[in-house]
Amino acid sequence: MERRKTRSLAIGNDRTGVIRVGGDAPITVQTMTSGSTCDIDACVAEINRLAAAGADIVRVAVPKRADTEALEEILSQTRVPIVADVHFHYQRALEAVESGVHKIRLNPGNIDDRDQVNAVIDACAERGIPIRVGVNEGSIIERKDKQRRMEELGKFFADHRQGHLMALMIAKLEEYMEIFEAKDFHDVCISAKSMDARLAIDTYREISKRFDYPLHLGVTHAGPRETGSIRSVVALGTLLAEGIGDTLRISYASDPVFEVEDGLEMLWSLGLRERVGAELIACPTCGRIQVDLFRLVQDVRTKLADDIEVPMKVAVMGCVVNGPGEAEGADIAVFAGDRRGIIYVQGQRVANVPEEEILDRLLEECRTFQQRVRSGDAKLGEKTVDIVPPDPIGELGSGFDSIAQGKVERVTVGES
Ligand code: SF4
Repeated sequence: MERRKTRSLAIGNDRTGVIRVGGDAPITVQTMTSGSTCDIDACVAEINRLAAAGADIVRVAVPKRADTEALEEILSQTRVPIVADVHFHYQRALEAVESGVHKIRLNPGNIDDRDQVNAVIDACAERGIPIRVGVNEGSIIERKDKQRRMEELGKFFADHRQGHLMALMIAKLEEYMEIFEAKDFHDVCISAKSMDARLAIDTYREISKRFDYPLHLGVTHAGPRETGSIRSVVALGTLLAEGIGDTLRISYASDPVFEVEDGLEMLWSLGLRERVGAELIACPTCGRIQVDLFRLVQDVRTKLADDIEVPMKVAVMGCVVNGPGEAEGADIAVFAGDRRGIIYVQGQRVANVPEEEILDRLLEECRTFQQRVRSGDAKLGEKTVDIVPPDPIGELGSGFDSIAQGKVERVTVGES
């Protein structure tokens, strides 16, 4: 897919590594700490945990002087670019810049005094620090002015659902960006987040036509992971598939590690980032399964995340009926049958083991295959032999026929 052409930003330094956003740089994944920034040890631990999960950039809230005072120490103990999230108090931005933070986020909805914004721009320009201008549907404008502005802007985007909010966010961005243009400061990234997926799609499409700055995508207040993931992936996935977006944050009311994991998985799925670690393919299960496939899939997923860095495809299939076709292209595959599993490595059958041995044997094959790939003995995605489905009557047992004949007991999924 062709990406929208944008300017490019550099965030970070020699210590953190420089992360580029926009231009032809890979799309980056951001997240935000959930603890108090002035609790230095906890903040450092959380940042390092998020970086280990794959976050390219981590944002911290700095509502108090104590938070900006903590930044210098936090920066000295972490190795990922840090963004100071500033609302209401422009002094926090100046203090964060002074501490050496790598990027500032300003909210036009609560810091809009021109002199104050100019002071932040000057400080950032002097140190080469980029700024994200992030409007947010929930804090787009002071409440007392909201009705008046909505009436003024109501005629714009009247054919869009919630077009008045879209108009408010875009007007606010355009007014704010004039301050930056007047200063000839272009080290800027833009976001316009809302909690409604369709409004987010419409708004980002529109601002992508009006600005050539990199866009930071997000659906704000998306909710818990269970529903927030759908709302976020619908909006962000649509935009990314249209070539819009240069960096993103998925926002959950949950552990921010999930934000990183799901952001990366979305980019990998769209082929916008090179995958790190194994890609797991698993059958959705149906009435044919005769092993505890749900548990096997979860166990395989956890262990692969711990042990495998090479982007191999691993398939865990419930039966031999559709399994071979559905596992097409997998480097490593297991086809379960009547409490057994047959394991293949790039089309070669390597084992036929009872259910309780499937997990360990599969992982052993994955680790061995990883070594072979690293040493150049094997190549990812190279399928040397077509997978011939195991004989469901012979090797894997006849399934329901066996149960009907009383040779084996019925297996209930979830039973230990
Ligand atoms: S692989 Fe077999 S058990 Fe799994 S969904 Fe397909 S047909 Fe059903």
